[in-house]
Amino acid sequence: MNATFVTLARNSDLWDIARSIRQVEDRFNKKYHYDWVFLNDKPFDEDFKRVTTSLVSGTTHYDQIPVEHWSFPDHIDQDKARKVREDMAEKKIIYGDSISYRHMCRFESGFFFRQKPMLNYEWYWRVEPSIELFCDIDYDPFKLMADNNKKYSFVLSLYEYLETIPTLWDSTKKFMKAHPEHIAEGNSMGFLSDDGGDTYNNCHFVGLHVNAWSNFEIGNLNWLRSKAYMDYFESLDQDGGFFYERWGDAPVHSIAASLLLKKEEIHFFDDIAYYHIPFTHCPTSEKTRLENKCHCNPKDNFDWKSYSCTSRYFDINSMTKPAGWESQN
Ligand code: GDP
Ligand code: MN
Repeated sequence: MNATFVTLARNSDLWDIARSIRQVEDRFNKKYHYDWVFLNDKPFDEDFKRVTTSLVSGTTHYDQIPVEHWSFPDHIDQDKARKVREDMAEKKIIYGDSISYRHMCRFESGFFFRQKPMLNYEWYWRVEPSIELFCDIDYDPFKLMADNNKKYSFVLSLYEYLETIPTLWDSTKKFMKAHPEHIAEGNSMGFLSDDGGDTYNNCHFVGLHVNAWSNFEIGNLNWLRSKAYMDYFESLDQDGGFFYERWGDAPVHSIAASLLLKKEEIHFFDDIAYYHIPFTHCPTSEKTRLENKCHCNPKDNFDWKSYSCTSRYFDINSMTKPAGWESQN
C-alpha cells in the first residue's frame, strides 16, 4: 500500500519514540516494512536519526516543518491570546499556558498531511511516543481500510474536556451553514450530538485526556487534503480557537470525520489493542485476544466504561457489541 507511519517529535522524545517504534515493528511492521516520516519544528539531530533509522524496518524520512506551519497567523490578537494562557494557567487546565502545545495541535489539525514527505503517500498511521501495542497485527490495516472504503479510524473514544473547546461547536455550526455542500449524507452526527446538532456532547475519537493525550490514527491523506477538510480547517483557523482557547487536533479530526464522511467510512479497530496513559483498548473477545497473542488485561479495557463514547459509535452504526461487554462497564 502507498502508506507511511508518521510521528511528530522533538529530539528529546527520542527514547520514548524508540519504545513506540519497537512495539510497532515487533507486532506489525517487521512483516510489512512500511516507511516512517518524522516531523519536527526544529532540525532533527544525528542521534535521533541514527537510532530511529536503525529501529524502523522501512525507509525513514526526516523533515523540518516550515515556520508558517508552526507559528501564530497574522490575524491572531497576541494580547488576547496571552490573556487566555494566563487564565488557563490559573485554572490549571492541562497545557493551558503552553504556546508550543497550541502550535502542535494546530499543526496536527491542518498541516502534517501537507508536509513535503507526506505528499507521496495516500495513507498514514500516526504514532506517538510511549504507546504500547498489545496484540499482533497479522494483516494490513491500510489494505483493510482501502478494500472497505474507510477513510478514518479509531481505537478509543471519549468525552473531551469542555474547557479547552467552549466555542468549537459554534464554529463548526457556522461552517456547516456556510458549506452545506461538504456535509455528508448519512454522517455520524448522532455520535457528536444528542439533539440533532444543536449542542455537542463532547465525544471524540482518537484522543485521550486526563494528563496525557495519546493519538492513534490510521487514515486517508487524500481525505485530509480534500477541499471539504481544508475548508473546515481554514474556517476554524480563522475563528482563532487554537489560540483563544486550546482546541485539540483530536476533536477537530473527529468532528470532521463525523460530519464530512459517511458513517460507514469510519472504522473501529477492535483488534488493535493500544495503551497510552491512562487508558487501554483491549479486545473484549477472548478469541481475538488469544488468536493475536495479546498481553493486555481485559479488565483494563476502556470501551464500555461510562466515559467512553465507543458504545455510541456501535449504536449509530447498528453494530452488535461483542459478547461480554456488559461485564466490562
Ligand atoms: P500529549 O500526548 O497531548 O500529552 O502531548 P505530547 O507531548 O505527547 O505531544 C503530542 C505529540 O506532539 C507527540 O508526538 C510529541 O512528540 C509532539 N510534540 C509536542 N510538542 C512538540 C514540540 O514543541 N515540537 C515537536 N517537534 N513536537 C512536539
Ligand atoms: Mn502523547
